[in-house]
Amino acid sequence: MSVSDLARRIEAARRVVVFTGAGISTESGIPDFRSPGGVWSRMKPIYFQEFVSDPEKRREAWSRAFSGAAGWTGASPNAGHFAVARLVASGKAAAVITQNVDNLHQESGVPAEQVIELHGNASYATCLECGERHELEALKAGFEKAGEIPYCRRCGGLVKTATISFGQAMPEKPMNRAQAASLDCDLFLVLGSSLVVYPAAGFPLIAKRNGAQLVIVNREPTELDVYADLVVNAEIGPVMATVAPA
Ligand code: ZN
Repeated sequence: MSVSDLARRIEAARRVVVFTGAGISTESGIPDFRSPGGVWSRMKPIYFQEFVSDPEKRREAWSRAFSGAAGWTGASPNAGHFAVARLVASGKAAAVITQNVDNLHQESGVPAEQVIELHGNASYATCLECGERHELEALKAGFEKAGEIPYCRRCGGLVKTATISFGQAMPEKPMNRAQAASLDCDLFLVLGSSLVVYPAAGFPLIAKRNGAQLVIVNREPTELDVYADLVVNAEIGPVMATVAPA
């Protein structure tokens, strides 16, 4: 059966790269933002250019961030995240490339330097000028008490949640790291991504063309199933808990 096939392939692999999408976190209760009922069907995205040019858009963005309106933060890792963390801890998986911004890989125990975030992280903020990290809790007090839109304590620049917004360039360093990791694995394991968002969805093909096996675990079929060595259509948590048991 396919789950034991997956376990055998992971066992035989020397270096696994895990690639995760919304599907691993929907099992933690985080809605897939692309799905019906997802965040962008409930509220209009604020584009990067609007954020930097319009104070009212910044206010709206921070109001959403501090209220948790998008539903991206506040959830807990699930069995799928913990199984991935075990693959990393055992040395089997070298890196986790993720399209998610929910910080759940780090919270499940994957060292931050082994998580490659293609769309940033919603659990903290950074200065758009100098890159200084700002914790949301520290910014929230001033916003809620005095309505202050956050500015950088170091340089006075605009501060924004560390997510990559619509209209914002893909982050160069994570993209380069993801490419290098994809070229340096012999098993590329996709968990819960529909693989439709480019350029991120190009990484499985980079790995495959470089000789790695491609395995896709997703509830629904994906566009890249035709290239995969193995496809498992199932919930992520139960499958991964079986192949990477505690
Ligand atoms: Zn700054």
